[in-house]
Amino acid sequence: MEIHTDHHAPPPLTPKTDPVPPYDKQGDMTDEERVDAAFKGFVKDFGQDVAIHMEACIHCGACAHACHFYQTTEDPQYTPIRKLEPFRKAYQREVGPFAPLMRMLGIDSRPSVEELQEWQHLIYDSCTLCGRCTTICPMGIDIADLVKSARHGMYDAGLVPDRLSKITRNAEAKGSQFGTPEEFIETANAIAAAFNVDIPINKEKADILLTTAPGELEGHHKAFADAGKILNKLGYNWTMSSEAFEATNFGYLSGNRELQKRLTTALIDKAVEIGAHTVLLPECGHAYGAARWEWNLWYEKDVPVKVLHMTEFLDQEVGAGRIKLKPVGNTATFHDPCQIVRRGGLTQAPRRLLKALGIDLIEMKDHGDFGYCCGGGGGALANVRAAPLRHKVFDLKRKQIEDTGAERFITSCGQCRITFERGCQETGWDHPPESLMELVADNMID
Ligand code: SF4
Ligand code: SF4
Repeated sequence: MEIHTDHHAPPPLTPKTDPVPPYDKQGDMTDEERVDAAFKGFVKDFGQDVAIHMEACIHCGACAHACHFYQTTEDPQYTPIRKLEPFRKAYQREVGPFAPLMRMLGIDSRPSVEELQEWQHLIYDSCTLCGRCTTICPMGIDIADLVKSARHGMYDAGLVPDRLSKITRNAEAKGSQFGTPEEFIETANAIAAAFNVDIPINKEKADILLTTAPGELEGHHKAFADAGKILNKLGYNWTMSSEAFEATNFGYLSGNRELQKRLTTALIDKAVEIGAHTVLLPECGHAYGAARWEWNLWYEKDVPVKVLHMTEFLDQEVGAGRIKLKPVGNTATFHDPCQIVRRGGLTQAPRRLLKALGIDLIEMKDHGDFGYCCGGGGGALANVRAAPLRHKVFDLKRKQIEDTGAERFITSCGQCRITFERGCQETGWDHPPESLMELVADNMID
């Protein structure tokens, strides 16, 4: 795979700095208490991996040219490794090789509250946790994961963008950012009736626990109904649960570890309770990151449940001959959702599905494991304050899509779809993406 970056020189030293938007803060902690809370949060995350990563950077600058925020602004503050500066300071003071000496000499290298406030823009507004920098770093430093870890300390310090904080509090209060179990049942039944699909809810025993995302309940109703249509056609014993329907995880995105744990364990525990062998995730990227790749953070031993993304499930069903598809034809390009493809490893599954649909795939200049983020990942879409920066990043992606000249534009993440749909509304671009799962549902042969 060829990596398309313009060059690999370090970023220019002369800052071309956009004004930093104001920060938000929650709660009534003093500045000193915020610094303490952030510092303790950072230190909680220091393990061997963090130590290796913090020591390994050779300052080559390659990550800057991998990051869409740096690429589209040429602003050095968006160099990925620089986003970790206060985290690095905490590391140096607590566990770095000179930490005992620094403590002995009374050198306080803790980040200041002003640095933390400025940093909020860097780790929430201008990082979508896409991992492109991680893939390109010659030292294998997982910057995306470190940024995600750094959010834990920021959350503890009450220094989260307000919109993310509000959504997180809503999810804490109701068990889902969408709403209560009763609101879920009402909406699910209404969509099922509108699309004439049977959607079982709260069966006591089932083999598959289907989950969803608020985007499907609020706007992408066809996607919600089509997941049920596919499972019904396959004849599986499946259900949804009003207590465990929420696959998205704003604990994961905001840095609220307790909420992340609660949302993920709700899915796994419900699946175990009803005897399901599979938790089936909707077309949502970060749901896959949180539930598939981090569920084992919360359990001491393996649980007898598989967690599958919808794309992975459909690929298995088509591969086993249980789903047969009629050819769609047309040329299409595919947007690779970062958390499903680069971070999740499902690079070929969507391509096999497109082939099974008889679609002639025209790849973007940067695609697969090196595709660019839509700009809305990592909570950036929900963070209204980040919209101007998101628009710049969206332009990069839009150009790559247009350059393919493909007739159709397809993706497999509902959040990416919403980002593109918003981009269409905001810029007048007339190229909304289609859902890969909906294409499969529409073209199944009886
Ligand atoms: S994080 Fe990796 S890519 Fe970025 S400057 Fe350091 S070594 Fe280079
Ligand atoms: S994870 Fe993505 S958005 Fe964040 S710094 Fe790396 S390339 Fe940039």
